[in-house]
Amino acid sequence: MSDKKPFEIARETLKQLTARKLVPTPSNYQTLYNEIAGIPHMPPFPADTLRDIAKALPTKTPGQQKQRGLLEYAIDRLNWEGVKTALVAYGGFVPVTPPGNGTPGVPISLVDDEVGGATAPALTAEFMAQIGRMIEYSQPALGNDDVRFTEQTEALLTALRQPGADLANVKQMLVNYSHRLSFAAEDQAEIKDALLKLLHLVFENIGDLSLDEQWLKGQMDALMSASTPPLTLRRLDDVERRLKDVIFKQKDAKERAVQAQNEMREMLAAFIDRLSQMASSSGVFYEKLESSARLIEQAKTLAEIAPVLKDVVGATRGMAQDSKQSRDELHAMRVRAMATDAEVAKLHQELDRVSTQARHDTLTGTLNRKGLDEAMERELSTVKRKETPLCMALLDIDNFKKLNDTMGHATGDAALAHLATVARESMRPQDTLARYGGEEFVILMPDTPLDKGIEAMTRLQRELTKRFFLAGTEKILITFSAGVAQLAPQESGGDAIRRADQAMYLAKRAGKNRVLGA
Ligand code: GH3
Ligand code: MG
Ligand code: MG
Repeated sequence: MSDKKPFEIARETLKQLTARKLVPTPSNYQTLYNEIAGIPHMPPFPADTLRDIAKALPTKTPGQQKQRGLLEYAIDRLNWEGVKTALVAYGGFVPVTPPGNGTPGVPISLVDDEVGGATAPALTAEFMAQIGRMIEYSQPALGNDDVRFTEQTEALLTALRQPGADLANVKQMLVNYSHRLSFAAEDQAEIKDALLKLLHLVFENIGDLSLDEQWLKGQMDALMSASTPPLTLRRLDDVERRLKDVIFKQKDAKERAVQAQNEMREMLAAFIDRLSQMASSSGVFYEKLESSARLIEQAKTLAEIAPVLKDVVGATRGMAQDSKQSRDELHAMRVRAMATDAEVAKLHQELDRVSTQARHDTLTGTLNRKGLDEAMERELSTVKRKETPLCMALLDIDNFKKLNDTMGHATGDAALAHLATVARESMRPQDTLARYGGEEFVILMPDTPLDKGIEAMTRLQRELTKRFFLAGTEKILITFSAGVAQLAPQESGGDAIRRADQAMYLAKRAGKNRVLGA
């Protein structure tokens, strides 16, 4: 090869064309150029002819299609080496058994497609059956509302499982199937979204209707956040359990309220009855007194007065007895009314207590201790079943007392909620966040070994430095110290948390704002 620069070769070529009196055609120029540059003489690149050949090559299999594409690419770049490679590879896709004679397990076409040094699997009947299984397994997720799609799927499955299927036909069916599949998948996603919106609307409405029922409001808020995507089976399970709780409590509360109302109504009726009786008996009494008074006025002798007085005394005694009876009855009614009142108050207290015993902490919306115990039980049974690692972290906010003391308890509360929000958003959906104590949280990380658990906590620390807590306009950096423990074989959840707690304590002693493994 000449060591001349390209522009010097070009200039020399033009000189030689003139010197040798050659006609300045592109081919003469190229021959001279190659000679001066020391490049072996190459005939011109027959791009058009090669393109014709490429066009004539059949593309019955994906392999053939790919290699014809590579061939056209090489032709465009006038690259002989590329043309050669593509043609050789194309040759590998020519069927060894004519289509229609394929038997299961035997390659329908020889696919020796070297991709990055790895050999792609052959397009065998087994391979087709695998595609069939994949389509079949994904079917339940797509629903069966669209009859035409269902028919199309069945036809495709039959074709895929037929020995010696016509590949071109199967390919066309796959293309049509993919097209329809994209619509069906979109439909299902939209249906899911719409259902979730509907669910939220129902929750919102129940929550609005029960404004005065504080216990129910808290439950509704928790339901709303539990049914916010990303949804997992576990979260849906949680939604279901909470909803059952709410329905049960609401039914109970309603029954008791109706019962209390009926009792009140009965008492009121009895009271009115008694009142009217008293009014009529006192009316009779006064009439009696009046007529007695008249008789006394008209009486001329004491003997005449004696029976009248007897009557008056009798009427007065009767009246006194009536009054006493009425007073006793009214007193009994009052006692009953007070008892009913106390019972309603007790019912409300009970509901509040049940509500605080629910699985979520109302301030932060995270699980509470009871919720954590249940989640832990579930994770432990998964660990047993699947033998996957489970990590748990215990984190404690640094210098929280100082924050409370300087900014007030309400700001402290808001800081707790902020930490819970940031933690929830930086965790994976399968992780569980629970409030363990005042300013302590536990995070369960399934399928996570110790080093990854420590990484996750460090990531949360970084996230908190990016997302300041805003107290009014003041930006406050919340830091925490954490201990992370991986559940050991045969270890109980409580023991693992205790190890994480010890590691957290060491992190505090080492200067806070750090994560240590147990
Ligand atoms: P350290 O860095 O060693 O953890 O110090 P600290 O101040 O965070 O820890 P300490 O245990 O001394 O104080 C915890 C404080 O958290 C005391 C308590 O008043 C406060 N606290 C606990 N629960 C709540 C709550 O629900 N709301 C608010 N605002 N404060 C709480
Ligand atoms: Mg603490
Ligand atoms: Mg603390």
